[in-house]
Amino acid sequence: MQIKLIINLVYITSAIMFIYGLKLLTSPVTARKGNFISAVGMFLAVVVTLVNGGIIDYKWIALGIILGGLIGGFFARLVQMTQMPEMVALFNGFGGIASLLVGSATYYELGSYNLFIMTTLFLAVLIGGVTFSGSIIAWGKLSEVITGKPVLFFGQTILNGLIFVAALMGGAFFIANPADGYPILIGIIILSLMLGVLAVIPIGGADMPVVISLLNSYSGIAACAAGLAIENNILIVSGALVGASGIILTNVMCKAMNRSLYNVLFGGFGSVARKSEADFQGEVKPISPEDTYYILEAACSAVFVPGYGMAVAKAQHAVRELADLLEENGAEVRYAIHPVAGRMPGHMNVLLAEADVPYDKLIEMEEINRSIASIDICLVVGANDIVNPAAREDKNSSIFGMPIIDVDRSKTVIVLKRSMAPGFAGIDNRLFYNENTRMLFGDAKSSIEAVISQFKEL
Ligand code: NDP
Repeated sequence: MQIKLIINLVYITSAIMFIYGLKLLTSPVTARKGNFISAVGMFLAVVVTLVNGGIIDYKWIALGIILGGLIGGFFARLVQMTQMPEMVALFNGFGGIASLLVGSATYYELGSYNLFIMTTLFLAVLIGGVTFSGSIIAWGKLSEVITGKPVLFFGQTILNGLIFVAALMGGAFFIANPADGYPILIGIIILSLMLGVLAVIPIGGADMPVVISLLNSYSGIAACAAGLAIENNILIVSGALVGASGIILTNVMCKAMNRSLYNVLFGGFGSVARKSEADFQGEVKPISPEDTYYILEAACSAVFVPGYGMAVAKAQHAVRELADLLEENGAEVRYAIHPVAGRMPGHMNVLLAEADVPYDKLIEMEEINRSIASIDICLVVGANDIVNPAAREDKNSSIFGMPIIDVDRSKTVIVLKRSMAPGFAGIDNRLFYNENTRMLFGDAKSSIEAVISQFKEL
């Protein structure tokens, strides 16, 4: 009795540490500390669970920890920053399959059956299976092992609906006939794996970060259901935290892209290249690194607006170097961060942190927009959709309504990109034709380095 009390007290401590850790993750300044506190909380939870578990064979646990630790550590070191969404997809998938296995093993171990345990066990298996196979497809799309284009076929939604209903009916039968439920359980596992694949293939590769965030939420819900099935309080709490934070992030991403979750899941975005019908006035005015230097040299305030192209060009260190030179020259320099710049949440924050850009220089979209008219120069580094005025003005545009950084309202805009090619949304950008816009064509890193050498030479 006393042991149980101690264990639950440690679980409560761990849960508080998870929640406090999550709170600290909301700011880049405290994020590392938050991660550490949550990790210690998880360590405590694992230790007391092992001490408590009379049935656990420590040999297998040790083997699992060593093997899992080695594989995880190896891949974490190997993975490039740009491959992070793929890695998270795999993590979610493994979370899902773990819940599926815990659910199945619990059924195997059950001496007597009751409605609650059978229901939670079924949910852990169903959601865990969908999460696993869906995450593997998401990983495949992002890493281009399979096509990133939406795979659409006639009657797809109906087929998905039928499989879902069949899985639910199987679940009802399984719960009602627990004693001889093995074949049904296997059937549910197969249906859940099919459902995960079929639900994710119609979604375009570039929408995968949203899907991964949603699957992250599913993996939490599956873990929570597994926790209820095996009556483990900390698994219930941590699963619920993952489930809730995943769905909040999904919602934030959808809002920032001005898309509904329904549109992401069933819209087949990216299956057809969308063009804005707008006929742009004005002409494109290219600029050389030399002339860019002269404009920058005279600026009192400059704002870098990084986008996906900065990640592709790996230009963050060059951006930082140029920013330092501008500051030495007396200009006030800041970085405007759009919530969906790049291809994953926090993409730009991570890259700029890697280049040691101080956090207080990163300004959120709403804040920078308030003072954008007074800014001398906005340097758009490999960004496109997040600065496209069509989102504000063109009702026919597929990105209409998406909040953007209003660089076109600043005094001068210099756009660094290689060509006139569109970005993720596949639409043209009126910004490039504006009177106050200059286009510095070329790879963002090379262009910035060329401007830096002008600064050094002159
Ligand atoms: P975009 O995809 O709109 O534009 C990126 C631009 O970078 C392209 O136009 C490309 O032009 C340019 N570029 C590519 N490589 C280089 C290079 N080496 N040097 C210079 N420029 C380069 O990116 P944004 O960041 O503006 O917008 C993000 C988009 O992704 C939004 O539509 C958002 O909704 C979507 N999205 C974001 C997610 C997230 O979590 N952040 C998730 C899913 C989607 P060019 O080829 O001419 O060089």
